[in-house]
Amino acid sequence: MTNPQHFASDNYAGICPEAWAALDEANRGHVPAYGDDPWTERASKALRTLFGTACEVFFVFNGTAANALALASLCQSYHSVICSASAHVETDECGAPEFFSNGSKLLTAPAPDGKLTPDAIRALATSRSDLHFPKPGAVTITQSTETGLVYAIEEIRAISAACRELGLRLHMDGARFANACAALDASPAEITWQAGVDVLCFGGTKNGMAVGEAIVFFDPALARDFDYRCKQAGQLASKMRFISAPWAGLIESGAWLRNARHGNACARAFAADIAGVPGVEVLFEVEANAVFVRAPAEVLADLRSRGWRFYTFIGGAARFMFGWDADPAHIARLVADLKAASAAAGGA
Ligand SMILES: *Cc1c(COP(=O)(O)O)cnc(C)c1O
Repeated sequence: MTNPQHFASDNYAGICPEAWAALDEANRGHVPAYGDDPWTERASKALRTLFGTACEVFFVFNGTAANALALASLCQSYHSVICSASAHVETDECGAPEFFSNGSKLLTAPAPDGKLTPDAIRALATSRSDLHFPKPGAVTITQSTETGLVYAIEEIRAISAACRELGLRLHMDGARFANACAALDASPAEITWQAGVDVLCFGGTKNGMAVGEAIVFFDPALARDFDYRCKQAGQLASKMRFISAPWAGLIESGAWLRNARHGNACARAFAADIAGVPGVEVLFEVEANAVFVRAPAEVLADLRSRGWRFYTFIGGAARFMFGWDADPAHIARLVADLKAASAAAGGA
């Protein structure tokens, strides 16, 4: 049975062939449990090679856990975490960062385009210095952002410089980290530890895996006892090889980057194809694999009635995400339906 593609989320896609092949290989025979296996060793090594540094790597089931546990390791309960108002940690994690840190409060900076800036960080971090307000402890940025933008290397460097000046740790939510690397044509090292990032949550799920995110600590001291934190949070997989093997498959084959490049290219092509459709506007610059489409409510309703699924949680615009397997023929159908919906609405 095959289902038509939707572009509501890059999570609608299945498992990419390289991750699937690694799963199949890992499924042969027995290996020790709880990460004490050759696949986990191999995947950690592949990530250390990819980042070109002796980072500490941990594998967990999903991005919410990765972000929440990573932030908890950077903060005490009385600390705050500075983020953009549209950050996934604030809007889509049900308070998990606060919960797993035992109360570290998220401080949100208004950011019309979703990006955090050194000025916004400074303003929040210095707004209060008395002990009645949580002490700033960390900053988190999303790369690529929830709005489909990408922080340039210089922007990350400027943010990390502000963090150092203010005594804050820098976390990167990289649910779509591969898309950012592809967009910038930058190495993973350049946009993380070399630019001052302390901890990265590297998303495997949206990149083509079934489940799994890697938490990468560039400062090994910050990873102290992190294995206990994962276990306590219910994030230590007993059959760890089924999370780690696909990582080895994705990284060693280069599929992580190919998948991301494909998604990004599809997003750019889609945005180009709908440019100039009457009443339809692309909201943010298309830098990664997301396209936000602002259109009259009747046009979006018409698109839905033609069977398309999409979310409108950011500024009421329809979000279209392009994953590793986005099919140009299906994208062409979406373009045609959007044009038809616009025409039916009188090009409103
Ligand atoms: C998808 C996503 C996550 C992870 O979400 P889970 O559903 O917990 O895996 C984290 N951050 C961002 C920006 C995301 O888009």
